[in-house]
Amino acid sequence: MSFFLEKCPRCGKGPVFLYSVFHIFKFTETHSHCSKCELNYEPETGFFFGAMYWSYAMLVGLAVITAISGTYLGLGEMLYWGIPSLIVVLLPWIFRYSRMLMLYVVYPIMHKNRFEKKDIKD
Ligand SMILES: [Zn+2]
Repeated sequence: MSFFLEKCPRCGKGPVFLYSVFHIFKFTETHSHCSKCELNYEPETGFFFGAMYWSYAMLVGLAVITAISGTYLGLGEMLYWGIPSLIVVLLPWIFRYSRMLMLYVVYPIMHKNRFEKKDIKD
């Protein structure tokens, strides 16, 4: 659940992002550390470059699902505008959840020592 609420992957309490997803110019800004357990959100320089692969997978999946369902629903040429429009509208969420996947899936594997629980402030 803390994944969808965009909370820290270690303690589930500290927010990952500084601003709301609806803050159109600042929705990408991320805290450097968790405010509760001090987990460093960027354990190495360029850690979030890997989020590109997650977002690519999400975009392809979204396009395929939309195209298939649109074809069966008989949307026809509306799909040419519908898929790009849907992708543009969902970009902030795709961006943020691709970063969340990096924190929840890749971080515990690549940086196990840093990820292991320390004393969690409460
Ligand atoms: Zn935390």
